[in-house]
Amino acid sequence: MDPQLWILTSVVLAAALLVVTLYLVLRVFRPLRAIAEAARRFSRGELTYRLELDAPPQLRAVADALNGMARQVDETITRISSQRNEVEAVFGSMVEGVVVVDRQRVINSLNSAAAVLFGRTPAEVKREAHRGKSVIEFLRNTDVDSFAGQVLEEQTALERTVTLYRKAPVYVQIHGTVLRDEQGECAGALLVLNDITRLKRLENMRRDFVANVSHELRTPITSIMGFVETLLEDDPGDEETRQRFLGIAHGHAQRLNLIIEDLLSLSRLESWEGELPREDCALEQIVSRTIGSCEAAAQRRGIAIRDSYVGATRVSVNENLLEQALVNLVNNAVKYSNQDSVVEIVCRNDGQELQISVRDQGPGIPPADQLRVFERFYRVDRARSRAMGGTGLGLAIVKHIALAHNGEVSVTSMEGQGSVFTLCIPSPLS
Ligand code: ADP
Repeated sequence: MDPQLWILTSVVLAAALLVVTLYLVLRVFRPLRAIAEAARRFSRGELTYRLELDAPPQLRAVADALNGMARQVDETITRISSQRNEVEAVFGSMVEGVVVVDRQRVINSLNSAAAVLFGRTPAEVKREAHRGKSVIEFLRNTDVDSFAGQVLEEQTALERTVTLYRKAPVYVQIHGTVLRDEQGECAGALLVLNDITRLKRLENMRRDFVANVSHELRTPITSIMGFVETLLEDDPGDEETRQRFLGIAHGHAQRLNLIIEDLLSLSRLESWEGELPREDCALEQIVSRTIGSCEAAAQRRGIAIRDSYVGATRVSVNENLLEQALVNLVNNAVKYSNQDSVVEIVCRNDGQELQISVRDQGPGIPPADQLRVFERFYRVDRARSRAMGGTGLGLAIVKHIALAHNGEVSVTSMEGQGSVFTLCIPSPLS
């Protein structure tokens, strides 16, 4: 072949090869590199990245498939993490404590409420300090541990109340259920814990109250029955004794009546719902009627009742209830005061708060009893209260009347130097 033709052919062939190579680089290798780079970015978690290709249809199909896969994985991860956040939010805001343990009683998860019940902090839960620790290690409670063990062993739902000994006992009711895996095998246990201390306390209070009421009613009823039976069965004969017995029975019947009236007042006050109806009234008139009700008893014991006022005396209160509270306080002051002393009713109204103090010169109340005198049937001196015809409910009624007015009642007292009961009612201006 002619050497010149040979060279020309070689140059043309080399040029054609260059063109093909260039074409391949531009149309195939570059898109492949872009695909490889996109795959790397997806695997690094950059799932919002999208691969844009100007390439042959076969390579564009690969790019579309990769983009579609990334979109799907992204959506699935978003859905799963939002579900997980929801579950965590529900878990964390639950009032009930929740503990999940595996078959070895190692804690898988627990919420803040459960941790706090056992003296741990929500911060510890947040940084997962419980992970991999057993119930004994983290919650340090053998009752909960043995309960979880029983649920896992018996593989049934169980319930138990455990007591945690703090400053005051805390009662926790636990419901335990078995958790199963896809094969139906026991995978652990779920414990739901409820703090039932308040309920227990209410239950105890109700039980004590019923016991107290029964006790208070039993004494007068037994007396009435005794005297009436004596009158019926062994007639004492003389009219004087008969009259005396009837008088005693009548006294006890009156006492019964007083207790029942006070109980009804308390229950009415307790069952009150909504705003208390208030009237625009003159404070002096309420105090003057109060003094009128207590005057006879005061005079019998040579006690003077004085009243004084600072600030406005037109107030917006529930007139009947305020009078009932004042009568109870002044009656007590008269009952427990020394003979020939003074009881003072001091009213102060600064426009924000009405304060009515009832001050006496009686025996005073020991500090330990000062808070408790507002409890039902609590008496400092039982015999004296009964002898004075007290029901033990007067101050409980005063407290509820104060609460119904959004106020409060308190006592300050020094033994041997008298007591001051103060009723505070906010915003009393009419
Ligand atoms: P009671 O009907 O027994 O008086 P209260 O609820 O009115 O019941 O009072 C409870 C107890 O508080 C009384 O039994 C008494 O021991 C004590 N107490 C109340 N007021 C006074 C007071 N002014 N001085 C001394 N003790 C008082």
